[in-house]
Amino acid sequence: MSRTHHVIVGGSIAGVSAAMAMRQSGFDGAVTVVDAEPLLPYEKPPLSKEADPEQAVRPILPEEHYREHGIDLVIGLRVHRLDDEHRRVVLAGGGELAADRVLLTTGVSARRLGTPGEELDHIHTLRTAADARRIFAGLHRGGPLVVVGGGFIGLEAAAVARTMDIDVTIVEAMELPLLGPLGPAVAGLMTRLHQGNGVRVISGQTVERYAGHGVVEEVVLTDGQRLPAATVVVGVGVVPNDQLAAATGATVHGGVVVDEYGRTDHPWLWAAGDVASQIHSRTGVRERIEHWDVAMRHGAAVGASMVGQPTINDAAPYFWSDQYGKSLQMFGRVRGTDHVVVREGAAPERFVAFWLREGRLAAVAGLDEPKAVRSAKTILDTNAVVAPEVLTDPSTDLRALARRLARPAAAPAQSLPVKT
Ligand SMILES: Cc1cc2nc3c(=O)[nH]c(=O)nc-3n(C[C@H](O)[C@H](O)[C@H](O)COP(=O)(O)OP(=O)(O)OC[C@H]3O[C@@H](n4cnc5c(N)ncnc54)[C@H](O)[C@@H]3O)c2cc1C
Repeated sequence: MSRTHHVIVGGSIAGVSAAMAMRQSGFDGAVTVVDAEPLLPYEKPPLSKEADPEQAVRPILPEEHYREHGIDLVIGLRVHRLDDEHRRVVLAGGGELAADRVLLTTGVSARRLGTPGEELDHIHTLRTAADARRIFAGLHRGGPLVVVGGGFIGLEAAAVARTMDIDVTIVEAMELPLLGPLGPAVAGLMTRLHQGNGVRVISGQTVERYAGHGVVEEVVLTDGQRLPAATVVVGVGVVPNDQLAAATGATVHGGVVVDEYGRTDHPWLWAAGDVASQIHSRTGVRERIEHWDVAMRHGAAVGASMVGQPTINDAAPYFWSDQYGKSLQMFGRVRGTDHVVVREGAAPERFVAFWLREGRLAAVAGLDEPKAVRSAKTILDTNAVVAPEVLTDPSTDLRALARRLARPAAAPAQSLPVKT
């Protein structure tokens, strides 16, 4: 009888965590991770935080780790199709892998808007090591840089460019960069951080077209402004890589729809990480969450579940972003209806923001306030009712409050070290 074989499509943090979790759960069948990129699986977050692209490409695990754990890596080959009738994973070029179960951890791709002139050189999105190389090689030749879309990745690239003394303009369609993920109060603080570091922020505008001869030279906005540009980074959202699942008939709705264990409604297929539309146990809301830590924990939980150890990731969603040598850390998910209060930090620009829902802490974010954020995360985990004025009162010792409110909590699913 042949050995059971699980194939993981997508060798990034969710896929690698799943493979490791399968082994840690005692699975002794074959495990293969396939990734389209020709690199050992690497960390994505440094790509937008490092001026030197070589420094930015850091393997998730050393190569020997895969060998030692009996995990086969197939890198540089795209999965072309899932042949669910014959239970085979079909690779570009025609190779096939027989699979007893398939886990999709294919992540997301950068959205393109189809703006006229988008095909000019030096207009980039930022998702891969190759993108980072192209962008930062361009920035080393000089500016100006125009960032289109004020999301985290674009803002991080803007911050790196400022450390290189490059002239930077951010163009954001809404009233403020980061308005969606953070809401107006905290988005305003982050915007001021950029402005204080010399970034020009143009809000309420979109790009009408890019102009240039072969390479981009100008970004033309809808109000007629023309911004000189040597490099453009476009960060206007992502689309889930859910086509493989959709072609099998599995339900896809803004991502691959999974249950709490990562199962799709196709008996052969599972999904985890950024591509998965999941109901996170903490939020009760179906959504895709694009956080490194969540993808790692979700991948680990789904990997264990696939090999007979049903596991749910119940850790509070965690995200971080590094800008101008400062780290924004955030636990929980924000809703537009949350009541947000802000506590000043120990130094200018530093802050801790609390989002309250029905009197309970639903999310916390802090800029360069790691201890306060950790304490607030403990408070969040307790689900206790807490008064906003207690949280914002500078004389409140958040650590002591957290200790008082804390009760024992179940250990979260985890298989790799977490950056906090
Ligand atoms: C530049 C950048 C900076 C970021 N910074 C932060 C941060 O500071 N903090 C944070 O919390 N999160 C950050 N994120 C988000 C975080 O990296 C993602 O949440 C995480 O990488 C998701 O992991 P994943 O394994 O689900 O998918 P991905 O990392 O997107 O990986 C999907 C993989 O699937 C492969 N693939 C897709 N289709 C196929 C196919 N058909 N065949 C074979 N392979 C395929 C791709 O090549 C890719 O390697 C950042 C992301 C980027 C791009």
